[in-house]
Amino acid sequence: MHLYYKGEDDGMPTITYLYMRSAVEETMAVFDDTVKKIMKKDFRRWAGDSMVCKECDFRFYCRGK
Ligand code: SF4
Repeated sequence: MHLYYKGEDDGMPTITYLYMRSAVEETMAVFDDTVKKIMKKDFRRWAGDSMVCKECDFRFYCRGK
Protein backbone atom coordinates (compact mmCIF):
# COMPACT_ATOMS: atom_id res chain seq x y z
CA MET A 1 0.00 0.00 0.00
CA HIS A 2 1.29 3.48 -0.83
CA LEU A 3 0.46 6.77 0.82
CA TYR A 4 1.17 9.83 -1.28
CA TYR A 5 1.47 13.22 0.35
CA LYS A 6 1.92 16.71 -0.99
CA GLY A 7 4.58 19.20 -0.05
CA GLU A 8 7.63 16.98 -0.30
CA ASP A 9 10.43 18.95 -1.92
CA ASP A 10 13.25 16.51 -1.31
CA GLY A 11 13.06 12.80 -1.86
CA MET A 12 10.09 10.49 -2.34
CA PRO A 13 6.60 11.85 -1.61
CA THR A 14 5.29 8.39 -0.70
CA ILE A 15 5.30 6.01 2.22
CA THR A 16 5.02 2.33 1.39
CA TYR A 17 3.78 -0.25 3.87
CA LEU A 18 2.09 -3.61 4.02
CA TYR A 19 -1.68 -3.56 3.89
CA MET A 20 -3.15 -4.81 7.15
CA ARG A 21 -6.89 -4.46 7.62
CA SER A 22 -6.55 -3.81 11.36
CA ALA A 23 -4.00 -1.00 10.80
CA VAL A 24 -6.28 0.66 8.23
CA GLU A 25 -9.28 0.41 10.57
CA GLU A 26 -7.28 1.92 13.44
CA THR A 27 -6.16 4.79 11.22
CA MET A 28 -9.73 5.38 10.05
CA ALA A 29 -10.88 5.46 13.69
CA VAL A 30 -8.34 8.20 14.42
CA PHE A 31 -9.61 10.22 11.45
CA ASP A 32 -13.22 9.67 12.55
CA ASP A 33 -12.34 10.91 16.04
CA THR A 34 -10.69 14.01 14.60
CA VAL A 35 -13.69 14.75 12.39
CA LYS A 36 -16.04 14.42 15.38
CA LYS A 37 -13.93 16.94 17.32
CA ILE A 38 -13.97 19.35 14.39
CA MET A 39 -17.76 19.01 14.07
CA LYS A 40 -18.09 19.80 17.81
CA LYS A 41 -15.68 22.74 17.34
CA ASP A 42 -13.33 21.17 19.86
CA PHE A 43 -9.99 22.71 18.87
CA ARG A 44 -8.24 22.41 22.20
CA ARG A 45 -5.43 20.16 21.03
CA TRP A 46 -2.35 21.22 19.15
CA ALA A 47 0.33 19.36 17.25
CA GLY A 48 2.69 19.26 20.21
CA ASP A 49 5.67 20.16 18.07
CA SER A 50 6.42 23.79 17.24
CA MET A 51 8.37 22.67 14.16
CA VAL A 52 5.16 21.16 12.76
CA CYS A 53 3.22 24.36 13.53
CA LYS A 54 5.92 26.43 11.86
CA GLU A 55 5.15 24.71 8.53
CA CYS A 56 1.38 24.49 8.98
CA ASP A 57 -0.93 26.37 6.59
CA PHE A 58 -3.31 27.12 9.48
CA ARG A 59 -0.73 28.65 11.82
CA PHE A 60 -2.12 32.17 11.38
CA TYR A 61 -5.62 31.05 12.36
CA CYS A 62 -4.83 28.43 14.96
CA ARG A 63 -5.50 29.14 18.62
CA GLY A 64 -4.46 25.67 19.75
CA LYS A 65 -0.81 26.37 20.38
S1 SF4 B 1 -0.59 25.55 13.89
FE1 SF4 B 1 -2.40 24.66 14.86
S2 SF4 B 1 -3.38 23.48 13.25
FE2 SF4 B 1 -1.27 23.85 12.63
S3 SF4 B 1 -0.10 22.07 13.32
FE3 SF4 B 1 0.02 23.64 14.90
S4 SF4 B 1 -1.64 23.16 16.31
FE4 SF4 B 1 -2.08 22.05 14.42
